[in-house]
Amino acid sequence: MIVDAHLHLDDKVDSTAAGAAFELNRQLGSAGIDRALILHLEIQPWSPETFAEAISAYPRMRGFINVHPHHEKAELQLRQGIERLGYIGLKLHPRLQKFDVEDDKALRLIQVAGEMKVPVLIDAFPDGTYLLEGFSPLKYARVALKCASTRIVVAHMGGHHVLDFLMLAKRLPNLYFDFSYSLLYYQGSAIPGNMAYAMKSLNFKNVFYGSDYPDRPINVSLEMSRNVLLAHGLQETEMRKLMGTNALQFFDWKDR
Ligand SMILES: [Zn+2]
Repeated sequence: MIVDAHLHLDDKVDSTAAGAAFELNRQLGSAGIDRALILHLEIQPWSPETFAEAISAYPRMRGFINVHPHHEKAELQLRQGIERLGYIGLKLHPRLQKFDVEDDKALRLIQVAGEMKVPVLIDAFPDGTYLLEGFSPLKYARVALKCASTRIVVAHMGGHHVLDFLMLAKRLPNLYFDFSYSLLYYQGSAIPGNMAYAMKSLNFKNVFYGSDYPDRPINVSLEMSRNVLLAHGLQETEMRKLMGTNALQFFDWKDR
């Protein structure tokens, strides 16, 4: 059982969501990936309805809806996304969507997700832009404290702030991580080793594999990620948790 818990539809396949989902399903099948969590993005040219319809054709795919917390109907969009369109969580991207993850509207939407018992995945890759805007693990920690009933997935494991997030996760039981993008991005630095250390320190719980496709082809990300983890001494049993069972238990893959 392999689960990819962070990927997107590629809008460069043929510019349709259906075409992108078809191509993604082909790649998932040939890489042997059983389940995939696809993140809808407001910046892509597809409505939540079109996106949901495209992925609904493939049993292995589930989606997270991307809503802007400042939209006057944000709460309604989230509710309808979950209840009518089959999404199983909320995706937030404070940097691309240009809002502060700690503002009242963002907190409210994250709390609503918790009330609906769906997780929220928040982008946490500290690139230069995000750092200039004041990126801090503490902001995520305060969100987790104020939204204690919401399970929060810190995407990309917080990048080079992974050790800060690890120490925070030891105090905040509602913090989870995917290690997409960062594990491969920081190759050649100490960060992949720090990520492997954090996984081990968390007993290989609450951490999920993701490819962040279309960053790289599905099979390339999977093989490169496995090799980095093996190089840092991870065992196959540990790998199975990170790449399969953790995400299988965490997300709601119910039949639709
Ligand atoms: Zn992503």
